[in-house]
Amino acid sequence: MASYERIYLSTPHMSGLEQKYIEEAFQTNWIAPLGPNVDSFEQELASYVGVKGAVAVSSGTAAIHLALRLLDVGKGDIVLCSTLTFIASANPILYMGAEPVFIDSEPNSWNMSPLALERAFKKLDIEGKLDKVKAIIVVHLYGQSADMDAIVKICERYKVPIIEDAAESLGATYISERQTQVATKQSGTIGKFGVYSFNGNKIITTSGGGMLVSDDLEALGKARYLATQAREQALHYQHSEVGYNYRMSNILAGIGRGQLQVLDERVEAKRRIFARYYDELANIEGINFMPEAEFGRCNRWLTALTINPSYIEATVPMICSALDKLNIEARPVWKPLHLQPLFKGCMYFPHASGSVSDELFFNGICLPSGSNLTTTQQEYVIKAFKNIICQPT
Ligand SMILES: *Cc1c(COP(=O)(O)O)cnc(C)c1O
Repeated sequence: MASYERIYLSTPHMSGLEQKYIEEAFQTNWIAPLGPNVDSFEQELASYVGVKGAVAVSSGTAAIHLALRLLDVGKGDIVLCSTLTFIASANPILYMGAEPVFIDSEPNSWNMSPLALERAFKKLDIEGKLDKVKAIIVVHLYGQSADMDAIVKICERYKVPIIEDAAESLGATYISERQTQVATKQSGTIGKFGVYSFNGNKIITTSGGGMLVSDDLEALGKARYLATQAREQALHYQHSEVGYNYRMSNILAGIGRGQLQVLDERVEAKRRIFARYYDELANIEGINFMPEAEFGRCNRWLTALTINPSYIEATVPMICSALDKLNIEARPVWKPLHLQPLFKGCMYFPHASGSVSDELFFNGICLPSGSNLTTTQQEYVIKAFKNIICQPT
């Protein structure tokens, strides 16, 4: 018995509040990039996450690109980057003509391993390449913060600024205990720059969009200028350097304002979905969920788990394809970037003797986790999943 309506990993979930802001934009004819919704969305998001400022742009990828540009990353420079992530984290490194060096995950959070990071710095130091390292991109995977205290400590020692790719982790928190001061911070607000995405599959969406956040207002001013074709203050159009057309439209920012108001609800819904999967599946031998590290609270953007082949015969591709036949979308965990043909030959630093991210990719699967997934739909997914993994093949 297949579900009639396809069940997706994560779909847009409108609240109804968006319409008012879109309506306003139409009534005032602000149908353009920039406008009052853009300004308000920036202020509202900055105040939600607790940073001094934000710049709304056309995508999360654009925000990462701008951050690299602001950090003066250029041809031949090196940028360290989490390996277990979506390609968008690292593509902008190539836009700048720089070289990515990939860092493995730690088992505790599935995010950047401080051990591997330390080893990467030491190796680059020995090779005399430290001065080429201009930035590090730390990804907060599936809505969980990386261990920022440990990462910040290493990066401060090597004086390398951090860009946080928090595309998947808006609404998650990190408990920082640096200098014995305990502070709960929003994911994406600890590094020099933080990046959020409002793509259609993210926890809140504008159909497409992104945000660059920072406490450095001067840098954000520069980002705004670069994102507007690097147009200088002049009556005529004047340009001295290369820029981009990266600003968010006033209509989409209106959607974002409505979505931001329900972000907390979306986090709770995603966490409830995770809890239901956990209750039903965690006691099966060979199944392990992405752990929630003690240093933060996940938004559980996607529920991810691993299948131990010593206990369960069905492989991740087999499970995904069997679920697909039942009209359920499931996906393997991100293929690590050091395994992608695009990045063949790039340096890679594993967590320990074995690579954690390789293991997570081969055995990891993401289950439907949309905040609008109904209990009935989720029960259907759980039943189908149990049937597939319990059936001897
Ligand atoms: C979605 C995503 C991005 C990019 O966001 P876009 O808005 O689609 O450009 C970057 N990094 C990660 C980890 C993502 O999941």
